[in-house]
Amino acid sequence: MNKLCHFCGNRNFKNNNVQYIYRHNEKFLIVNDVPCVQCEFCGEQYFRAEVLKKIEKEFNEIYSFGKKSRKEISVPVEQYFELQPA
Ligand SMILES: [Zn+2]
Repeated sequence: MNKLCHFCGNRNFKNNNVQYIYRHNEKFLIVNDVPCVQCEFCGEQYFRAEVLKKIEKEFNEIYSFGKKSRKEISVPVEQYFELQPA
């Protein structure tokens, strides 16, 4: 990637595989080991358009067409104002 990081202006990037959380209308899809380039300074992640399209397609297949995902997890949900003081 021959450009500057949009967030910090750094120009050094590394290839990395990361966990991507796709979210749409309070529905979530977690995809592990997604290829990206990552800013070496601030850690911002940049994904290729076809990578994101693939994840979006998978999301639609699961939520709209009932495709079974490899694995499902349940995630706790809280309201911030109900949390105990630190
Ligand atoms: Zn950066």
